[in-house]
Amino acid sequence: PPPTPRATGPRVFRGSQDPWLAGSARVKVGTMWAGRALHAILSAGPGSRRAQSALTQLRGVLEEELEAIRGAGTWKSERVITSRQGPRIHVDGVSGGILNFCANNYLGLSSHPEVIQAGLQALEEFGAGLSSTRFICGTQSIHKDLEAKIARFHQREDAILYPSCFDANAGLFEALLTPQDAVLSDELNHASIIDGIRLCKAHKYRYHHLDMADLEAKLQEAQKHRLRLVATDGAFSMDGDIAPLREICHLASRYDALVFVDECHATGFLGATGRGTDELLGVTDQVTIINSTLGKALGGASGGYTTGPEPLVSLLRQRSRPYLFSNSLPPAVVGCASKALDLLMESNAIVQTMATKTQRFRSKMEAAGFTILGASHPICPVMLGDARLASCMADDMLKRGIFVIGFSYPVVPKGKARIRVQISAVHSEEDIDRCVEAFVEVGRLHGALP
Ligand code: PLP
Repeated sequence: PPPTPRATGPRVFRGSQDPWLAGSARVKVGTMWAGRALHAILSAGPGSRRAQSALTQLRGVLEEELEAIRGAGTWKSERVITSRQGPRIHVDGVSGGILNFCANNYLGLSSHPEVIQAGLQALEEFGAGLSSTRFICGTQSIHKDLEAKIARFHQREDAILYPSCFDANAGLFEALLTPQDAVLSDELNHASIIDGIRLCKAHKYRYHHLDMADLEAKLQEAQKHRLRLVATDGAFSMDGDIAPLREICHLASRYDALVFVDECHATGFLGATGRGTDELLGVTDQVTIINSTLGKALGGASGGYTTGPEPLVSLLRQRSRPYLFSNSLPPAVVGCASKALDLLMESNAIVQTMATKTQRFRSKMEAAGFTILGASHPICPVMLGDARLASCMADDMLKRGIFVIGFSYPVVPKGKARIRVQISAVHSEEDIDRCVEAFVEVGRLHGALP
């Protein structure tokens, strides 16, 4: 007998076959919107209805997810700045100028006139962008010059640019390490290091934050592998604490390991001439690989890089996926970063100014009775403990014209909520004093100070 024709079309979508849609429609019965939506779905063809059903389901899933984030109190809202980045900014919905204490604009170069001018000149001379990846037709002389300058700045053999340091971290480990190798990572490393390590096939060891005994135990365990790479942030952005690179390098040499440092919160301002954590701790020749960003102290536009041994950089140009499969850095960005490095290599006055300002803020806040984590880093976490207190105090600081952000769980551990203050070389002494005064006032108001 001829085969029975299979039922097709609208019947597939009716009744209990699509319980989510049925339920959703029930909830909205009686509203004009539901009536119109249902009519549109039922009068459309089967393909369109299937797409509608999937989209409706997606909206439900997304709403549930978003509600969970709101419910957990971890929703991140973004304040809209209507001016250039700098120590004084304008924020949408807030009248008057605001003193900004929450940017990574450590040296104030984001709005430096010479940096802006260099960006404009590169834009004029080299165009808006390359419409290409580096290896196809996206390498200009300015990219090569900037890579050479970065290598010179860090006293390394070579350097390679990426669209961001997130990309540099995502592209390093997979290209370098195989299942024969091991990577040992501080548990509080930046998300991009964690993601980069996830992508690679090496054996993974996670050591307790800054815990050298634990690192040593893991290094002993990892002796069976071909290469061992210890990976750490140079300065950790939530606590403003600095990796004990001397001890890490000592252990690395003892257990025949390589050292990788992410210097995003160090390049340009830590160490006597701003070379970073390796300079600060006197281990420049012992750190094998550095990744860092052009998006913080070095002009603040965007971009990242890896600097280290020449064959490593050559391998990354052949194998590193975020480098191979993403567009070249725009000329304006390259021009800005290149000028920022020139300024730093000409003089270290700006680096020293930043250190003095940081010291002023830290000592005045501690004298007022606040606890500030870290030692001498411009990231100054004002410890408050309670999440609501941190958030309310940050809001009240803004009412007094000071822009700071409260951080709480899950960004930092439970019970360790804080307001993170970031000092910039271009804050004046008066700006810093005003910030401290506002903290004292708001701290007393909320019972955080006696
Ligand atoms: N590594 C660290 C330690 C960071 O703080 C950041 C930025 O927040 C990154 C990497 C990523 O840098 P970029 O903004 O250049 O992608």
